[in-house]
Amino acid sequence: MDSQMLIKTHAHTMLEHMPVGVALFDAQDLRLLAANTLFQTLIDTLLDPAWKNGRAIGHPISDYLPRAEETGLMTIFRTVAETGVPYRTGEWSFPAIDGDITYWSWTLDPLRDSDGHIIQLLQTASEITAHVLARQEAERVQASLSQTNRIAETDRKRLQVIETVARSIRESLDIDSISMAALKAVSTCFDPLYVYTHIANPVQKALDLLHIHPVPVENPSYSTLQHIPYGSSFPIAQAYKQHNPIIIEDLQAAPSLDTADSNHPLVMSDARGYACVPLWFGVTFEGTLTAVFKESIAADGPEVQALMGSGIHIAAALAHARLRKVVENERTRLRAVLDQLPEGILIVEAANGSISYANAAAAYILGIPVTSLIGIPLNRHPQINVVMQMNNRPIFPWNFAVIRALSGETISSQEAIVTRPNGSKVITLSSSAPLHVEDGSISGAVIVFQDVTVQKSLEQQKNEFISIASHELRTPITAIQGFAELLQVSATQEQSLNPQSLRALTFINEQSQSLTRLIEEMLDLTRIENAQLLLNLAPHDLISTIQHVIEIQATVDKNHDIQLLLEGLQDTDTLIGVFDENRIVQVLNNLISNAIKYSPAGSRIEVGLRYSPTTSHEALMWVKDSGIGIAANELPHIFKRFHRASRLDRSISGLGIGLYLVEEVVTRHHGRVWAESTEGDGSTFYVQLPVLPDRVPS
Ligand code: ADP
Repeated sequence: MDSQMLIKTHAHTMLEHMPVGVALFDAQDLRLLAANTLFQTLIDTLLDPAWKNGRAIGHPISDYLPRAEETGLMTIFRTVAETGVPYRTGEWSFPAIDGDITYWSWTLDPLRDSDGHIIQLLQTASEITAHVLARQEAERVQASLSQTNRIAETDRKRLQVIETVARSIRESLDIDSISMAALKAVSTCFDPLYVYTHIANPVQKALDLLHIHPVPVENPSYSTLQHIPYGSSFPIAQAYKQHNPIIIEDLQAAPSLDTADSNHPLVMSDARGYACVPLWFGVTFEGTLTAVFKESIAADGPEVQALMGSGIHIAAALAHARLRKVVENERTRLRAVLDQLPEGILIVEAANGSISYANAAAAYILGIPVTSLIGIPLNRHPQINVVMQMNNRPIFPWNFAVIRALSGETISSQEAIVTRPNGSKVITLSSSAPLHVEDGSISGAVIVFQDVTVQKSLEQQKNEFISIASHELRTPITAIQGFAELLQVSATQEQSLNPQSLRALTFINEQSQSLTRLIEEMLDLTRIENAQLLLNLAPHDLISTIQHVIEIQATVDKNHDIQLLLEGLQDTDTLIGVFDENRIVQVLNNLISNAIKYSPAGSRIEVGLRYSPTTSHEALMWVKDSGIGIAANELPHIFKRFHRASRLDRSISGLGIGLYLVEEVVTRHHGRVWAESTEGDGSTFYVQLPVLPDRVPS
């Protein structure tokens, strides 16, 4: 083999083993002159079966590749053949015979003769379909991944805004910090031109700007935003009317905007997206949250969702702040009222027992400044501890009253002596009551008190006066009564006086007796006041005591029919009770004299005593008349000191002390007294007294 031949053989071998398809075309008619096996295999996917397996060699491209023209392949070949400029392509698509798209990377180079004429074209080709498809798939995955990432990112931003707002609410309920936190979060996440909150002003029917972020510099729109009446055509006002968010996807293209809005400086600026969320808390409109964006926005975009999501929290915070303000105002108003009151008021908290409120009068009466009273538990103020009660009975400190009030009791009219820090003493009249919160639980207690030192000292003086006067009166009256009785006896014996003078003497005697009774009652009154009414307790027979009283009363008053009625007992029985006999006689006398006094002459008065083994530890006595009776509205008051029925015939003498003494005496015997009466139809007074069950009737 000559050397030429050898080179050809080597060249052929090399071409056959190249990893690319190589083909040679005639530059004139674009006939395929030669192709290595790889090229033939590669183009077989594009060829009709008749052209496969190298049958295309020797034929122009347009014969075996009919779509070469329409795909632009022919143009490339012709251009290279004419211009000599090589062609390179990295990714050429060509339909395979089965219709699938195939991808090729190929080159086309001109081959010249020794004169420089282009005589042939050399094509190299590799099929890269699998590679391109794989890349396309990767691109698709990448695209969908970034789409998911975008969604996740916007979701994250939306949640970040809502979470920031929610967190700021948890940290503080101050509306300023919540609003600012919301605006900053929206700004950070969505980069709006402006974001602002308005607060509803229902009195002026307008929205007042609360915050704007960032604060505009020399922006004329800023001032128009300050105060927006509900009736204005601003989208913000529309949000209130419509209840729903106003979303303008593109301000510049929004045909629905009124002229007022399209002239709005924000609209005239570059702003495009606009979202205004009305802040409703239940049925109350609290304000708006608005954001203006450089870019247009989507109605359901993350910005809008973030605004709506945080809007719910801001509305709740605004409502809370508003209600707190209402409560605060109400509290301030109430405190102003309380501070004007002449009564001292202390409020003690259930939680820690300390004083949370003291009014000016409390500070004045106690002689302790308000600031020193507040915050300190009541029992730590030694001065406020009560020295003693007025009647020298055991000490009843205020904190006891407060503890009882904290357990739900109301304690009224407690008199006490309080020592001020300067040592002076003040007599107080106080009442304590529990303070309830909405759910009914007790949150604290209130003590209301007044300084009754002056009244008390006047009362004391009056009592002293009555006491002295009564003592002074008692001596001459006893003398008058004694001498009248003496005269009466001797005159009756000696018959030295005419009947008229004798009647006068009897009258003097009776009147001085009732005067003595009155004086005794007045003395008893002062004894009670000064805690000097002492009982001389001993066992006595109640039946004989009553019988004795009736006997005396019947001899004194002959105008009434006084009858004893025993129930569950015989006149011969004994019913023993431990009592001060004189005092029980006084009780019966008072009740019977009232029955006599308030019922017509000739009427019957029933004095009863009932004893039943079922209630063996107590006996029931009653005095029943058929007199004028007591009006229903008077009934609750008749046992009060100096109380007399208002419609009483003033010619009926009395001081209104008798029943007060009756109640005091009966209560001190651990008994009970009450009355039943119908006006015009008589009264019955009942007295229940403890008796000794083991000394029951024989
Ligand atoms: P007085 O000295 O006025 O009788 P009391 O304390 O004994 O004072 O009674 C108080 C008031 O109760 C009387 O003023 C009277 O209005 C009324 N009262 C008491 N007992 C009777 C009665 N038996 N019938 C009608 N009213 C009575």
